[in-house]
Amino acid sequence: MKTVKLFNTLTRKQENFRPIEAGKVGIYTCGPTVYSYAHIGNMRAYIFADILSRMFTKAGFKVNHIMNITDVGHLVSDGDDGADKMEVAKQREGINAWKVAEKYTKEFFKDCEELHIKKPTTVCKATDHIDQQINMIKRLEEKGFTYTTSDGVYFDTEKFPEYGEMARLDIEGLEQGKRVDLGEKHNKTDFALWKFSPKDEKRDMEWEAPWGEGRKGFPGWHIECSAMSYEYLGKHFDVHTGGIDHIPVHHTNEIAQSECCHDTSPVVNYWLHSNFLNMGDAGKMSKSKGDVFTVSVLEKQGIAPLSYRYLCLTAHYRSEIQFSDEAIHGADKALRRLASQVERLSTITPEENLSDTAKAYETDFIKFITTDLNTAAGLAVMWKMLAAGNISKAEKLSLLKSFDDILAFDIMNLPAYFAKRANNNISEDFKNKVEALITDRKTAREEKDYAKSDAIRDKLVSLGVVIEDSSEGTTWRLK
Ligand SMILES: [Zn+2]
Repeated sequence: MKTVKLFNTLTRKQENFRPIEAGKVGIYTCGPTVYSYAHIGNMRAYIFADILSRMFTKAGFKVNHIMNITDVGHLVSDGDDGADKMEVAKQREGINAWKVAEKYTKEFFKDCEELHIKKPTTVCKATDHIDQQINMIKRLEEKGFTYTTSDGVYFDTEKFPEYGEMARLDIEGLEQGKRVDLGEKHNKTDFALWKFSPKDEKRDMEWEAPWGEGRKGFPGWHIECSAMSYEYLGKHFDVHTGGIDHIPVHHTNEIAQSECCHDTSPVVNYWLHSNFLNMGDAGKMSKSKGDVFTVSVLEKQGIAPLSYRYLCLTAHYRSEIQFSDEAIHGADKALRRLASQVERLSTITPEENLSDTAKAYETDFIKFITTDLNTAAGLAVMWKMLAAGNISKAEKLSLLKSFDDILAFDIMNLPAYFAKRANNNISEDFKNKVEALITDRKTAREEKDYAKSDAIRDKLVSLGVVIEDSSEGTTWRLK
Protein backbone atom coordinates (compact mmCIF):
# COMPACT_ATOMS: atom_id res chain seq x y z
CA MET A 1 0.00 0.00 0.00
CA LYS A 2 1.46 3.34 -1.02
CA THR A 3 1.18 6.48 1.11
CA VAL A 4 -1.54 8.74 -0.25
CA LYS A 5 -1.75 12.44 0.54
CA LEU A 6 -4.87 14.46 -0.15
CA PHE A 7 -5.88 18.07 0.36
CA ASN A 8 -8.88 17.99 2.68
CA THR A 9 -11.39 20.84 2.35
CA LEU A 10 -12.44 20.23 5.98
CA THR A 11 -9.02 21.28 7.30
CA ARG A 12 -7.67 23.18 4.25
CA LYS A 13 -4.56 21.04 4.63
CA GLN A 14 -2.84 18.23 2.81
CA GLU A 15 -3.17 15.14 4.98
CA ASN A 16 -1.94 11.56 4.92
CA PHE A 17 -4.87 9.40 3.92
CA ARG A 18 -5.90 6.88 6.58
CA PRO A 19 -8.65 4.52 5.48
CA ILE A 20 -11.46 3.58 7.87
CA GLU A 21 -10.95 -0.05 6.91
CA ALA A 22 -7.40 -1.14 6.05
CA GLY A 23 -6.78 -1.57 2.33
CA LYS A 24 -10.18 -0.21 1.32
CA VAL A 25 -11.57 3.14 0.33
CA GLY A 26 -15.18 4.27 -0.02
CA ILE A 27 -15.74 7.29 -2.29
CA TYR A 28 -18.96 9.19 -2.95
CA THR A 29 -19.12 11.53 -5.94
CA CYS A 30 -21.93 14.01 -6.55
CA GLY A 31 -23.14 13.09 -10.01
CA PRO A 32 -24.83 15.07 -12.77
CA THR A 33 -28.29 16.64 -12.80
CA VAL A 34 -29.64 15.02 -15.94
CA TYR A 35 -31.80 17.79 -17.37
CA SER A 36 -29.52 18.78 -20.25
CA TYR A 37 -26.28 17.85 -21.99
CA ALA A 38 -23.25 18.02 -19.70
CA HIS A 39 -20.95 20.97 -20.29
CA ILE A 40 -17.26 20.06 -20.68
CA GLY A 41 -16.68 22.07 -17.49
CA ASN A 42 -18.99 19.68 -15.63
CA MET A 43 -17.08 16.75 -17.07
CA ARG A 44 -13.87 18.05 -15.51
CA ALA A 45 -15.21 17.07 -12.06
CA TYR A 46 -15.77 13.50 -13.27
CA ILE A 47 -12.34 13.26 -14.88
CA PHE A 48 -10.97 14.30 -11.48
CA ALA A 49 -13.04 11.66 -9.63
CA ASP A 50 -11.88 9.09 -12.19
CA ILE A 51 -8.21 9.93 -11.59
CA LEU A 52 -8.81 9.72 -7.84
CA SER A 53 -10.33 6.27 -8.11
CA ARG A 54 -7.58 5.04 -10.46
CA MET A 55 -4.93 6.47 -8.13
CA PHE A 56 -6.33 4.54 -5.16
CA THR A 57 -6.39 1.34 -7.18
CA LYS A 58 -2.80 1.90 -8.32
CA ALA A 59 -1.78 2.59 -4.71
CA GLY A 60 -3.13 -0.84 -3.75
CA PHE A 61 -6.58 -0.02 -2.33
CA LYS A 62 -9.83 -1.79 -3.08
CA VAL A 63 -12.08 1.01 -4.29
CA ASN A 64 -15.82 1.24 -3.74
CA HIS A 65 -16.89 4.25 -5.78
CA ILE A 66 -20.48 5.47 -5.61
CA MET A 67 -21.95 8.15 -7.85
CA ASN A 68 -25.50 9.46 -7.86
CA ILE A 69 -27.65 10.70 -10.69
CA THR A 70 -29.80 13.69 -9.73
CA ASP A 71 -32.99 13.08 -11.63
CA VAL A 72 -35.35 15.01 -9.35
CA GLY A 73 -35.36 17.87 -6.88
CA HIS A 74 -32.57 20.11 -8.19
CA LEU A 75 -34.23 23.50 -8.49
CA VAL A 76 -33.15 26.12 -10.98
CA SER A 77 -31.89 28.44 -8.24
CA ASP A 78 -29.73 25.74 -6.54
CA GLY A 79 -31.71 26.71 -3.45
CA ASP A 80 -35.34 26.23 -2.60
CA ASP A 81 -36.93 28.53 -5.12
CA GLY A 82 -37.71 28.24 -8.75
CA ALA A 83 -38.84 25.28 -10.75
CA ASP A 84 -37.34 21.81 -10.73
CA LYS A 85 -34.74 21.59 -13.51
CA MET A 86 -36.34 18.38 -14.76
CA GLU A 87 -39.73 20.04 -15.11
CA VAL A 88 -38.17 22.96 -16.98
CA ALA A 89 -36.48 20.54 -19.39
CA LYS A 90 -39.77 18.76 -19.83
CA GLN A 91 -41.42 21.98 -21.00
CA ARG A 92 -38.47 22.73 -23.27
CA GLU A 93 -38.41 19.34 -24.91
CA GLY A 94 -42.06 18.40 -24.79
CA ILE A 95 -41.35 15.01 -23.25
CA ASN A 96 -42.12 13.49 -19.88
CA ALA A 97 -39.63 14.28 -17.07
CA TRP A 98 -38.75 10.57 -16.79
CA LYS A 99 -37.82 10.52 -20.47
CA VAL A 100 -35.73 13.69 -20.00
CA ALA A 101 -33.77 11.95 -17.23
CA GLU A 102 -33.32 8.80 -19.27
CA LYS A 103 -32.13 10.72 -22.32
CA TYR A 104 -29.53 12.83 -20.54
CA THR A 105 -28.29 10.02 -18.30
CA LYS A 106 -27.49 8.11 -21.46
CA GLU A 107 -25.79 11.15 -22.99
CA PHE A 108 -23.76 11.67 -19.83
CA PHE A 109 -22.37 8.14 -19.88
CA LYS A 110 -21.63 8.43 -23.59
CA ASP A 111 -19.47 11.47 -22.78
CA CYS A 112 -17.84 9.56 -19.90
CA GLU A 113 -16.95 6.78 -22.28
CA GLU A 114 -15.44 9.21 -24.78
CA LEU A 115 -13.34 10.72 -22.00
CA HIS A 116 -12.31 7.30 -20.65
CA ILE A 117 -14.01 7.96 -17.32
CA LYS A 118 -14.46 4.58 -15.70
CA LYS A 119 -17.96 3.74 -14.55
CA PRO A 120 -18.12 3.90 -10.73
CA THR A 121 -18.76 0.68 -8.79
CA THR A 122 -22.35 1.79 -8.22
CA VAL A 123 -24.40 4.46 -9.98
CA CYS A 124 -27.59 5.31 -8.09
CA LYS A 125 -30.55 7.45 -9.07
CA ALA A 126 -32.35 9.78 -6.67
CA THR A 127 -35.75 8.56 -7.91
CA ASP A 128 -34.82 4.97 -7.03
CA HIS A 129 -34.17 5.98 -3.42
CA ILE A 130 -37.26 7.95 -2.42
CA ASP A 131 -38.02 5.67 0.59
CA GLN A 132 -34.51 6.08 1.95
CA GLN A 133 -34.84 9.86 1.66
CA ILE A 134 -38.25 9.90 3.34
CA ASN A 135 -36.90 7.71 6.17
CA MET A 136 -34.02 10.06 6.73
CA ILE A 137 -36.29 13.11 6.85
CA LYS A 138 -38.53 11.24 9.34
CA ARG A 139 -35.54 10.62 11.61
CA LEU A 140 -34.50 14.25 11.41
CA GLU A 141 -38.08 15.22 12.24
CA GLU A 142 -38.16 12.86 15.26
CA LYS A 143 -34.95 14.41 16.51
CA GLY A 144 -36.39 17.90 16.22
CA PHE A 145 -34.27 19.26 13.39
CA THR A 146 -37.13 20.12 11.04
CA TYR A 147 -40.18 22.32 10.69
CA THR A 148 -42.96 22.35 8.16
CA THR A 149 -44.15 25.35 6.14
CA SER A 150 -46.91 25.65 3.60
CA ASP A 151 -44.60 24.48 0.84
CA GLY A 152 -42.43 21.81 2.43
CA VAL A 153 -40.36 20.38 5.24
CA TYR A 154 -37.26 22.38 6.13
CA PHE A 155 -34.04 21.72 8.03
CA ASP A 156 -33.58 24.17 10.90
CA THR A 157 -29.90 25.11 10.67
CA GLU A 158 -30.03 26.94 14.00
CA LYS A 159 -30.34 23.54 15.70
CA PHE A 160 -26.93 22.51 14.34
CA PRO A 161 -24.31 24.87 15.78
CA GLU A 162 -21.58 23.45 13.52
CA TYR A 163 -23.53 24.44 10.42
CA GLY A 164 -21.29 25.86 7.70
CA GLU A 165 -17.98 24.95 9.37
CA MET A 166 -16.46 23.28 6.30
CA ALA A 167 -17.42 26.19 4.07
CA ARG A 168 -16.32 28.62 6.81
CA LEU A 169 -19.60 30.42 6.32
CA ASP A 170 -20.07 33.66 8.16
CA ILE A 171 -23.46 32.76 9.61
CA GLU A 172 -23.74 35.94 11.67
CA GLY A 173 -22.97 38.02 8.63
CA LEU A 174 -25.60 36.11 6.74
CA GLU A 175 -28.11 36.58 9.54
CA GLN A 176 -27.56 40.34 9.54
CA GLY A 177 -28.87 40.33 6.03
CA LYS A 178 -32.06 38.95 7.51
CA ARG A 179 -34.13 41.84 6.28
CA VAL A 180 -34.18 39.89 3.04
CA ASP A 181 -37.56 38.26 2.83
CA LEU A 182 -37.28 34.85 4.51
CA GLY A 183 -40.81 33.86 3.67
CA GLU A 184 -41.74 31.11 6.09
CA LYS A 185 -38.12 30.06 6.63
CA HIS A 186 -36.76 30.54 10.15
CA ASN A 187 -33.18 31.21 9.08
CA LYS A 188 -31.61 32.28 5.85
CA THR A 189 -29.54 29.09 5.66
CA ASP A 190 -32.47 26.68 6.28
CA PHE A 191 -33.14 24.43 3.33
CA ALA A 192 -35.86 22.15 1.98
CA LEU A 193 -35.77 18.45 2.75
CA TRP A 194 -39.12 17.79 1.10
CA LYS A 195 -41.20 20.04 -1.12
CA PHE A 196 -44.93 19.73 -1.70
CA SER A 197 -46.09 19.57 -5.29
CA PRO A 198 -47.65 22.88 -6.30
CA LYS A 199 -51.40 22.94 -5.77
CA ASP A 200 -53.45 22.37 -8.93
CA GLU A 201 -50.46 20.99 -10.76
CA LYS A 202 -49.56 17.42 -11.45
CA ARG A 203 -45.85 16.76 -11.65
CA ASP A 204 -44.46 13.79 -13.60
CA MET A 205 -42.28 13.00 -10.60
CA GLU A 206 -44.07 13.10 -7.26
CA TRP A 207 -44.59 10.73 -4.36
CA GLU A 208 -46.80 10.17 -1.34
CA ALA A 209 -45.17 11.23 1.89
CA PRO A 210 -46.15 11.62 5.55
CA TRP A 211 -46.24 15.41 5.19
CA GLY A 212 -48.53 17.90 3.51
CA GLU A 213 -51.91 16.36 4.39
CA GLY A 214 -52.25 14.17 1.38
CA ARG A 215 -50.37 16.43 -0.97
CA LYS A 216 -47.75 14.58 -2.93
CA GLY A 217 -44.25 15.94 -3.09
CA PHE A 218 -40.61 15.41 -3.98
CA PRO A 219 -37.29 15.45 -2.14
CA GLY A 220 -34.97 18.45 -1.93
CA TRP A 221 -31.70 18.15 -3.81
CA HIS A 222 -29.36 17.71 -0.83
CA ILE A 223 -31.14 14.87 0.96
CA GLU A 224 -30.55 12.44 -1.90
CA CYS A 225 -26.78 12.50 -1.43
CA SER A 226 -27.04 12.01 2.33
CA ALA A 227 -29.50 9.13 1.86
CA MET A 228 -27.58 7.36 -0.90
CA SER A 229 -24.12 7.76 0.64
CA TYR A 230 -25.58 6.21 3.81
CA GLU A 231 -27.23 3.41 1.82
CA TYR A 232 -24.03 2.39 0.02
CA LEU A 233 -21.18 3.53 2.27
CA GLY A 234 -22.73 3.73 5.74
CA LYS A 235 -22.77 6.53 8.27
CA HIS A 236 -19.02 7.08 8.22
CA PHE A 237 -16.96 6.86 5.05
CA ASP A 238 -13.63 7.91 3.58
CA VAL A 239 -13.91 10.36 0.71
CA HIS A 240 -16.56 12.65 -0.78
CA THR A 241 -15.93 14.56 -4.02
CA GLY A 242 -17.62 17.35 -5.91
CA GLY A 243 -16.98 20.71 -7.53
CA ILE A 244 -15.95 23.72 -5.42
CA ASP A 245 -19.37 25.22 -6.12
CA HIS A 246 -20.83 22.47 -3.91
CA ILE A 247 -18.98 23.65 -0.80
CA PRO A 248 -21.16 26.54 0.50
CA VAL A 249 -24.60 25.01 0.01
CA HIS A 250 -24.93 21.43 -1.20
CA HIS A 251 -22.13 19.85 0.82
CA THR A 252 -22.70 22.11 3.80
CA ASN A 253 -26.31 20.87 3.86
CA GLU A 254 -25.28 17.25 3.34
CA ILE A 255 -23.03 17.46 6.39
CA ALA A 256 -25.83 18.98 8.49
CA GLN A 257 -28.35 16.30 7.50
CA SER A 258 -26.03 13.32 7.83
CA GLU A 259 -24.37 14.34 11.09
CA CYS A 260 -27.69 15.18 12.77
CA CYS A 261 -29.39 12.04 11.50
CA HIS A 262 -26.65 9.57 12.47
CA ASP A 263 -25.05 11.36 15.45
CA THR A 264 -21.74 10.87 13.69
CA SER A 265 -19.04 13.46 13.26
CA PRO A 266 -17.44 13.57 10.85
CA VAL A 267 -19.53 11.53 8.45
CA VAL A 268 -16.85 11.98 5.79
CA ASN A 269 -13.14 12.00 6.61
CA TYR A 270 -11.85 13.69 3.43
CA TRP A 271 -13.76 16.18 1.33
CA LEU A 272 -12.16 16.80 -2.07
CA HIS A 273 -13.24 19.52 -4.48
CA SER A 274 -12.24 20.23 -8.05
CA ASN A 275 -12.01 23.69 -9.51
CA PHE A 276 -13.77 25.21 -12.54
CA LEU A 277 -13.03 25.27 -16.20
CA ASN A 278 -13.20 28.94 -17.08
CA MET A 279 -14.58 29.17 -20.59
CA GLY A 280 -13.66 32.82 -21.18
CA ASP A 281 -14.71 33.94 -24.67
CA ALA A 282 -15.45 30.40 -25.78
CA GLY A 283 -18.04 30.22 -23.00
CA LYS A 284 -19.60 33.51 -23.94
CA MET A 285 -19.85 32.36 -27.51
CA SER A 286 -21.61 29.14 -26.67
CA LYS A 287 -23.93 30.91 -24.23
CA SER A 288 -25.04 33.52 -26.73
CA LYS A 289 -25.93 30.77 -29.14
CA GLY A 290 -27.80 29.04 -26.36
CA ASP A 291 -25.81 25.82 -26.83
CA VAL A 292 -24.10 23.84 -24.15
CA PHE A 293 -20.38 23.40 -24.83
CA THR A 294 -20.25 19.62 -24.88
CA VAL A 295 -17.84 16.86 -25.82
CA SER A 296 -19.58 16.58 -29.18
CA VAL A 297 -19.14 20.33 -29.80
CA LEU A 298 -15.42 19.74 -29.26
CA GLU A 299 -15.51 16.88 -31.74
CA LYS A 300 -17.23 19.06 -34.32
CA GLN A 301 -14.28 21.41 -33.97
CA GLY A 302 -11.91 18.55 -34.74
CA ILE A 303 -10.76 18.08 -31.15
CA ALA A 304 -10.53 14.52 -29.89
CA PRO A 305 -12.32 13.99 -26.53
CA LEU A 306 -9.14 12.47 -25.12
CA SER A 307 -7.34 15.73 -25.88
CA TYR A 308 -9.75 17.39 -23.47
CA ARG A 309 -8.88 14.74 -20.89
CA TYR A 310 -5.22 15.57 -21.53
CA LEU A 311 -5.92 19.29 -21.02
CA CYS A 312 -7.56 18.56 -17.66
CA LEU A 313 -4.55 16.52 -16.56
CA THR A 314 -2.13 19.32 -17.39
CA ALA A 315 -3.54 21.35 -14.50
CA HIS A 316 -3.91 20.53 -10.84
CA TYR A 317 -7.53 19.63 -10.06
CA ARG A 318 -7.69 22.43 -7.48
CA SER A 319 -6.59 25.10 -9.96
CA GLU A 320 -8.88 26.79 -12.40
CA ILE A 321 -8.31 25.94 -16.04
CA GLN A 322 -8.57 28.75 -18.51
CA PHE A 323 -10.15 27.30 -21.62
CA SER A 324 -9.05 28.78 -24.93
CA ASP A 325 -8.49 27.66 -28.50
CA GLU A 326 -4.80 27.79 -27.82
CA ALA A 327 -5.04 25.63 -24.69
CA ILE A 328 -7.20 22.91 -26.23
CA HIS A 329 -5.22 22.80 -29.47
CA GLY A 330 -2.00 22.64 -27.47
CA ALA A 331 -3.37 19.64 -25.57
CA ASP A 332 -4.50 18.02 -28.82
CA LYS A 333 -1.06 18.49 -30.33
CA ALA A 334 0.66 17.05 -27.25
CA LEU A 335 -1.53 13.97 -27.25
CA ARG A 336 -0.93 13.43 -30.96
CA ARG A 337 2.79 13.70 -30.27
CA LEU A 338 2.38 11.02 -27.62
CA ALA A 339 0.51 8.86 -30.16
CA SER A 340 3.36 9.10 -32.64
CA GLN A 341 5.89 8.17 -29.94
CA VAL A 342 3.76 5.14 -29.07
CA GLU A 343 3.58 4.21 -32.73
CA ARG A 344 7.35 4.12 -32.90
CA LEU A 345 7.49 1.86 -29.85
CA SER A 346 4.54 -0.32 -30.76
CA THR A 347 6.44 -3.17 -32.39
CA ILE A 348 8.72 -3.60 -29.38
CA THR A 349 8.07 -6.10 -26.60
CA PRO A 350 7.84 -4.28 -23.25
CA GLU A 351 10.63 -4.97 -20.79
CA GLU A 352 9.38 -6.54 -17.57
CA ASN A 353 12.62 -6.26 -15.59
CA LEU A 354 13.22 -2.56 -15.24
CA SER A 355 16.64 -1.08 -14.57
CA ASP A 356 17.03 1.14 -11.51
CA THR A 357 17.02 4.21 -13.76
CA ALA A 358 13.71 3.16 -15.30
CA LYS A 359 12.28 2.28 -11.90
CA ALA A 360 13.10 5.78 -10.67
CA TYR A 361 10.71 7.21 -13.29
CA GLU A 362 7.96 4.95 -12.08
CA THR A 363 8.62 5.92 -8.45
CA ASP A 364 8.52 9.61 -9.34
CA PHE A 365 5.32 9.27 -11.31
CA ILE A 366 3.53 7.42 -8.52
CA LYS A 367 4.82 9.81 -5.90
CA PHE A 368 3.36 12.79 -7.79
CA ILE A 369 0.03 11.13 -8.41
CA THR A 370 -0.38 9.93 -4.83
CA THR A 371 0.50 13.41 -3.57
CA ASP A 372 -2.87 15.09 -4.05
CA LEU A 373 -3.16 13.90 -7.67
CA ASN A 374 -0.43 15.98 -9.24
CA THR A 375 -1.19 14.87 -12.77
CA ALA A 376 0.68 17.81 -14.32
CA ALA A 377 3.92 16.67 -12.68
CA GLY A 378 3.07 13.08 -13.65
CA LEU A 379 2.82 14.09 -17.31
CA ALA A 380 6.13 15.94 -17.04
CA VAL A 381 7.76 12.73 -15.75
CA MET A 382 6.26 10.85 -18.71
CA TRP A 383 7.73 13.28 -21.28
CA LYS A 384 11.10 13.29 -19.53
CA MET A 385 11.11 9.51 -19.52
CA LEU A 386 10.25 9.35 -23.24
CA ALA A 387 13.13 11.70 -24.04
CA ALA A 388 15.64 9.88 -21.80
CA GLY A 389 18.70 8.42 -23.45
CA ASN A 390 19.62 6.11 -20.58
CA ILE A 391 16.71 3.64 -20.67
CA SER A 392 15.72 1.23 -23.42
CA LYS A 393 12.72 1.55 -25.71
CA ALA A 394 11.34 -1.64 -24.20
CA GLU A 395 11.52 -0.05 -20.76
CA LYS A 396 9.84 3.10 -22.03
CA LEU A 397 6.99 1.07 -23.38
CA SER A 398 6.61 -0.78 -20.13
CA LEU A 399 6.57 2.48 -18.15
CA LEU A 400 4.03 4.06 -20.49
CA LYS A 401 1.71 1.12 -19.95
CA SER A 402 2.05 1.51 -16.21
CA PHE A 403 1.42 5.28 -16.28
CA ASP A 404 -1.63 4.63 -18.40
CA ASP A 405 -3.32 2.95 -15.41
CA ILE A 406 -3.82 6.56 -14.24
CA LEU A 407 -3.77 8.59 -17.46
CA ALA A 408 -6.19 6.19 -19.16
CA PHE A 409 -5.53 7.26 -22.72
CA ASP A 410 -5.61 3.57 -23.70
CA ILE A 411 -2.10 4.41 -24.71
CA MET A 412 -1.31 1.47 -26.98
CA ASN A 413 -4.35 2.29 -29.08
CA LEU A 414 -3.65 6.02 -29.31
CA PRO A 415 -2.16 5.83 -32.83
CA ALA A 416 -5.23 3.91 -33.98
CA TYR A 417 -7.48 6.38 -32.13
CA PHE A 418 -6.13 9.33 -34.07
CA ALA A 419 -5.86 7.40 -37.34
CA LYS A 420 -9.49 6.40 -37.04
CA ARG A 421 -10.60 9.94 -36.35
CA ALA A 422 -8.62 11.24 -39.29
CA ASN A 423 -10.09 8.52 -41.44
CA ASN A 424 -13.68 8.87 -40.59
CA ASN A 425 -13.34 10.36 -43.99
CA ILE A 426 -10.25 8.40 -44.92
CA SER A 427 -7.65 10.62 -46.48
CA GLU A 428 -5.83 9.66 -49.67
CA ASP A 429 -2.56 9.90 -47.78
CA PHE A 430 -3.66 7.34 -45.26
CA LYS A 431 -4.99 5.01 -47.96
CA ASN A 432 -1.67 5.20 -49.81
CA LYS A 433 0.24 4.54 -46.61
CA VAL A 434 -1.83 1.45 -45.85
CA GLU A 435 -1.64 0.14 -49.41
CA ALA A 436 2.15 0.60 -49.43
CA LEU A 437 2.49 -1.31 -46.16
CA ILE A 438 0.34 -4.14 -47.51
CA THR A 439 2.52 -4.37 -50.63
CA ASP A 440 5.69 -4.42 -48.48
CA ARG A 441 4.17 -7.17 -46.34
CA LYS A 442 3.31 -9.20 -49.46
CA THR A 443 6.91 -8.89 -50.67
CA ALA A 444 8.28 -9.87 -47.26
CA ARG A 445 6.06 -12.96 -47.20
CA GLU A 446 7.13 -13.95 -50.70
CA GLU A 447 10.71 -13.64 -49.53
CA LYS A 448 9.80 -15.70 -46.45
CA ASP A 449 10.93 -12.86 -44.18
CA TYR A 450 8.22 -13.55 -41.62
CA ALA A 451 9.72 -11.34 -38.91
CA LYS A 452 9.39 -8.40 -41.27
CA SER A 453 5.88 -9.31 -42.41
CA ASP A 454 4.77 -9.66 -38.78
CA ALA A 455 6.29 -6.29 -37.91
CA ILE A 456 4.38 -4.68 -40.78
CA ARG A 457 1.19 -6.37 -39.64
CA ASP A 458 1.71 -4.94 -36.13
CA LYS A 459 2.26 -1.53 -37.61
CA LEU A 460 -1.03 -1.80 -39.51
CA VAL A 461 -2.80 -2.84 -36.31
CA SER A 462 -1.36 0.18 -34.54
CA LEU A 463 -2.87 2.35 -37.27
CA GLY A 464 -6.23 0.79 -36.49
CA VAL A 465 -6.25 -1.28 -39.65
CA VAL A 466 -7.60 -4.82 -39.78
CA ILE A 467 -6.34 -6.92 -42.67
CA GLU A 468 -7.85 -10.08 -44.06
CA ASP A 469 -5.92 -12.48 -46.28
CA SER A 470 -7.75 -14.70 -48.71
CA SER A 471 -6.98 -16.56 -51.93
CA GLU A 472 -7.91 -13.37 -53.80
CA GLY A 473 -5.36 -11.27 -51.95
CA THR A 474 -5.42 -8.97 -48.94
CA THR A 475 -8.26 -6.62 -48.06
CA TRP A 476 -8.31 -4.06 -45.28
CA ARG A 477 -10.71 -2.01 -43.22
CA LEU A 478 -10.57 0.22 -40.19
CA LYS A 479 -11.17 -1.41 -36.82
ZN1 LIG B 1 -24.48 15.59 -3.99
